[in-house]
Amino acid sequence: MADLMRGKRGLVMGVANRNSIAWGAAKALADQGAEIALTYQGDQFGRRVKPLAEELGAKLVLPCDVEDIASVDGVFAALKENWGTIDFLVHAIAFSDKSELKGLYADTTRDNFTRTMVISCFSFTEVCRRAVDIMENGGSIVTLTYSGSTHVMPNYNVMGVAKAALEASVRYLAADFGPRNIRVNAVSAGPVRTLAGAGVSDARLMFNYQRRNAPLRRNVTIQEVGSSVLYLLSELANGVTGEIHFVDSGYNIMSMPALDELKA
Ligand code: NAD
Repeated sequence: MADLMRGKRGLVMGVANRNSIAWGAAKALADQGAEIALTYQGDQFGRRVKPLAEELGAKLVLPCDVEDIASVDGVFAALKENWGTIDFLVHAIAFSDKSELKGLYADTTRDNFTRTMVISCFSFTEVCRRAVDIMENGGSIVTLTYSGSTHVMPNYNVMGVAKAALEASVRYLAADFGPRNIRVNAVSAGPVRTLAGAGVSDARLMFNYQRRNAPLRRNVTIQEVGSSVLYLLSELANGVTGEIHFVDSGYNIMSMPALDELKA
C-alpha cells in the first residue's frame, strides 16, 4: 500500500523541524504519493524547513505567519496560481506565551488569551475558508488538538481553552463544508516532545505520566500521529467528518492511574 494519496495535492502548515507533528504528517502523506506544499513561520524556521521540503520533493515552500492575514492570503494565492486546486490541508499550529503555560489559568491575561485564540484556534477557520475555495473536487482537512480541551491538564491553561474552541470549530466547519464533500476532522495527539510541547511547564512530568498510565504503556510517535492524519485525509476515511480522533496510546479512556503504577 504505497499509493493512498497518489494524484492528491495539499498544504501542510506547522513544520518547525524534524520533531514537529506536521513533519510526521508530511512524511506519511509523501510516502503515499501526495504532492505537498509547506509553510514556515519566518526566516529562522525557513532555514530549517527548506531542506526538509527538499527531502519530500516539495517545490512550494511558503512563508506564513497566521497573525499576518496578508501572508495567509499569499499562501493560498500561490497555491491557486501553481496548482489551481488542492485536495487536503493539515493545520498543526499553536502558540501561547510560555509565561502563562504555568501557574493558574485564572491568571491568563487578556492579551495572551486573545493571541492564543487567534493563532491556535481562529487561524484554523481562516485557513479552512481559503482552502475550500480551491477544493473544487471535495477535500479533507485535519487539525491537531490535545485532550487538555476537555480535561484539566496542569499548566496547559489557556491552550486547553483554545483547543476546546478549536474542537468546536472542527464540528461547525464540518457542518459548513460537508455539503461540498469537504471533511473536517482533528487528531488529538498524546504528548510528543516538540518545540510547542516543551513550552508547557513540567511537560516532562506529563509526558512520563501518560507513558506510565496509558493502556499501551508508551507515548506516541510523530510517525503514528502522522499516519492517523494520513488516514483521515485519505479515501479510507471518506465517511468520517467532524470527529476528534485520539492518537494517545489510549490514555483518554482511563478514569484513574494504572493499578501497576498505584501499587509501585
Ligand atoms: P511544533 O513546535 O513543532 O509546531 C508548532 C508550529 O506552530 C510551528 O511550526 C510554529 O512555527 C507554528 N506557529 C506558531 N505560531 C505561528 C504563527 N503565528 N503563524 C504560523 N505558524 C505558527 O510543535 P507540535 O507539537 O508539532 O505542534 C503542532 C500542533 O500539534 C499544535 O497545534 C499543538 O498544539 C498540537 N499538539 C501537540 C502535542 C504535543 O505534545 N507536542 C500534543 C497534542 C497536540
